[in-house]
Amino acid sequence: MPATELPPAETPVETVWKIVVNVPLWGQFDYRPADGTSVSPADIGKRVRVPFGRGGHERIGLITAIGPAGVEQVLPATLLDTEAPLLPGELLESLVWLHRYTVSPLGETVWQALPKPMRDGDPATLEPVAMLTTTGDPATLRGGKYKSALESLLTQGVLPESEARERHTGAVVNELLRRDLVRLEPVSISERLALADAAGRRWRDEPEHPLHRLQLTQQQHDAVHAIAADPDAYHGWLLEGVTGSGKTEVYLRLIAQTLAAGRQALILVPEIGLTPQTLQRFEQRLGVPVDAYHSGLSDKDRAQVWLRARAGLARVIVGTRSAAFLPLPNPGLFIVDEEHDGSFKQFDGIRYNARDFLVQRGHRVGRPIVLGSATPSLESLHNAQSGRYGLLRLTERAHGGATHPQMHIVDMRGVPLEAGLSPVVLKAIQVHLERGEQVLVFRNRRGYAPVLLCHDCGWSAQCQQCDAPMTVHRQGRRLQCHHCGASCTAPPACPDCGGLALHPQGIGTERLEEFLSERFADLAPVVRIDRGSTRTRDGLQQRLASVGDGAGLLIGTQMLAKGHHLPNLTLVVVVGADEGLFSTDFRAGERLAQQLIQVAGRAGRADKPGVVLIQTHHPDHLLLQRLLAADYDAVAQTELDERSKASWPPFVALALIRAEGRHVADVREFLQSVANAFGPYPNVMVMGPLPAPMPKRAGYLREQLLLQADSRADLHFALQRVIPTVYGAPLARKVRWSLDVDPYDL
Ligand code: ADP
Ligand code: ZN
Ligand code: ZN
Repeated sequence: MPATELPPAETPVETVWKIVVNVPLWGQFDYRPADGTSVSPADIGKRVRVPFGRGGHERIGLITAIGPAGVEQVLPATLLDTEAPLLPGELLESLVWLHRYTVSPLGETVWQALPKPMRDGDPATLEPVAMLTTTGDPATLRGGKYKSALESLLTQGVLPESEARERHTGAVVNELLRRDLVRLEPVSISERLALADAAGRRWRDEPEHPLHRLQLTQQQHDAVHAIAADPDAYHGWLLEGVTGSGKTEVYLRLIAQTLAAGRQALILVPEIGLTPQTLQRFEQRLGVPVDAYHSGLSDKDRAQVWLRARAGLARVIVGTRSAAFLPLPNPGLFIVDEEHDGSFKQFDGIRYNARDFLVQRGHRVGRPIVLGSATPSLESLHNAQSGRYGLLRLTERAHGGATHPQMHIVDMRGVPLEAGLSPVVLKAIQVHLERGEQVLVFRNRRGYAPVLLCHDCGWSAQCQQCDAPMTVHRQGRRLQCHHCGASCTAPPACPDCGGLALHPQGIGTERLEEFLSERFADLAPVVRIDRGSTRTRDGLQQRLASVGDGAGLLIGTQMLAKGHHLPNLTLVVVVGADEGLFSTDFRAGERLAQQLIQVAGRAGRADKPGVVLIQTHHPDHLLLQRLLAADYDAVAQTELDERSKASWPPFVALALIRAEGRHVADVREFLQSVANAFGPYPNVMVMGPLPAPMPKRAGYLREQLLLQADSRADLHFALQRVIPTVYGAPLARKVRWSLDVDPYDL
């Protein structure tokens, strides 16, 4: 018998953790448990401490998979999350999807989703909550603040101590504790979950609950009915409702039903829409605590909201863009309010759109998502038209008496202007102020003037670091670049010809404020609201409050164009709309229409009809004519037709690769090599390298490649093969580069 040769004994391949860290590198890294235990699928989503890179420095990593080792030398790692994974499966899977969609390193994508303390490796522990339980009888008290606090505590049953101190002041709570009328007891998470369940059901049993105070209109009722019909399945809904039509009431009903089912509701709102007013309205109408999640919170508070969401304790969360990354063990409903808003798109780091990410999460977990807007994005309208979303419309204002504002065009050709305002407009402002009403002058340009110009030789003040003019501030005394932040004193004389004829050109919000306060000072307070005057959410609230209910004149940028309730506002004047009519950006028309409709929506919200005056040199422009009918849908349809003809999104898929560096040759060589790498993918059209719209910014030279394909699948197929190689390319180290799938600004 011929001796059979045995195959060489195969060493079994070790199963290891596949880990990502927060570095701009493609791929995952192999590690094994430092304590010698074996890896388990239950480890996925947990954090680890790992030696990383040449120096072997310690970093925090996250386990995204387990699998056979791909390298010979597997280094040891130590588990940080010894119990539950930090990231639950659904969120991790959604982030993997996002990493594929944005074609970004998985590590950076995951890190983007984590609050800072979690990134840094802090333990994922919820702060323990002591609950205040009432033990005393208010009848034993003779009145006053102690009695009313005790009574109010009694109706709530139990309340977290911190909340009780916030509502009734620490001194009152201390006194109640001292007199043994309340007791502090620690509560477990399961008890807290049971309490949240009970609170969420309360509105059903209480006919007096604030939620029942409004009778829904037929349209609202139909919308709620349609969306709530199948709470256990994914369905995308576009809720198109004019400002004041009661979209928020629709959300509130849907959220209440979600609460009653013991599930969580996540509501995304634009940056500027998340005001204390919004939160208060939600809490009052729902009768449960509402968590806010936004960049104004401290890192610690953010992490606690994140952890409460992850524990299922936070039932209603209202947040800005990054709230799309909240872990939700028991999701029931997703809402994106003002879904067209640009602030849902992130412009640096991982360039994602929070709205689109949530649609994807709704899909994954099988729950409805509602996108609401008075002026839906063309993408969402297109999705509704093609049947991907259901379309629900609220066409009338919900509040009795309130009417749609009337829009008028003011032809400014050949008329004398004062601070850019025509006589018709100035007269109208005066009439409305004299009636004791409020006026908003909308100008999307802050500062005093957009340029400082020499009348003798034509010199204009340009930023040294950017291809952009410096904006004039403080009545011409200071110059500031709105792109890189550089600022300096304005020169006393022209640096080119020495002449003294330096004049601010164009009108910014500061100049309007100066002129209007002079003109109308005896009629009304004049308040300017823009990023220069108002840095915080609360600041905005305060400035609005300073106008009060009487006559008032507001001057603002788009900060003011969004959902602020100004019942006495009856006139809106739009200045500078022409700049949006002639722009090379394919979204400019859509944006102008949205801005004008939104800003018009500020007028006449209560029982007084509103008037909108749009100043223009182009009274016959088609877009303005369509807007006159306040018919956003007609404008949107025209824009969609034009996009279709011109091959722009949503009819094609786009991606933008931008690079910047100190030397234009490096930038161009890098982009050319990337362009060449798309050679094998003929379905992707590569345009460039071309100078970026602002070819120089903050001293860096900038160029770009635009990639276009008829099918998103073709574009992604190519990107997913080319981009990982770019991460390893030596040329990439000489420049700063980024990829933006579905870019906003070309
Ligand atoms: P939107 O979110 O569409 O701008 P809101 O939900 O804020 O509209 O509603 C606008 C105003 O109309 C609010 O003051 C709200 O309380 C009121 N409102 C909404 N729905 C109704 C209704 N069915 N009956 C009476 N008032 C309503
Ligand atoms: Zn000059
Ligand atoms: Zn600059």
